[in-house]
Amino acid sequence: MENLHHDDNCIFCKIIKGEIPSQKVLENEHIYAFKDITPAAPIHVLFVHRNHCKNINEMVEKNPQNIIDVFKAIKEFSEKEGIDQSGFRVISNIGVDGGQTVFHTHFHLLAGKKMRNL
Ligand code: AMP
Ligand code: ZN
Repeated sequence: MENLHHDDNCIFCKIIKGEIPSQKVLENEHIYAFKDITPAAPIHVLFVHRNHCKNINEMVEKNPQNIIDVFKAIKEFSEKEGIDQSGFRVISNIGVDGGQTVFHTHFHLLAGKKMRNL
């Protein structure tokens, strides 16, 4: 069993533990995925690993397997929702200029409408 790190002050760790309510869409031993409270698309889900770390650079440095865990869950969700064919977008914001507001690595999955190009 992998060693999972928590941060008692982290809002997403609290969501994973059930201390803050959320609308779960998928979970497994590695991943918790839930609806974004301020959706930017008809389908807007946040994928978080149970192992707390602050951003994808820290994740790839300390626990690269965690990134694979996230993308396997995204694949499973996209197939279950039937958006694997119509398409979707995955975003992870890093730091101030990236617009990151929650410092527990998370991946936004956006779908259900045609995204504009960046
Ligand atoms: P970011 O700005 O990339 O750090 O993304 C943080 C995201 O978390 C934003 O899209 C927020 O709407 C979302 N968020 C913050 N608090 C909650 C919550 N309690 N439940 C669901 N989503 C949340
Ligand atoms: Zn956390």
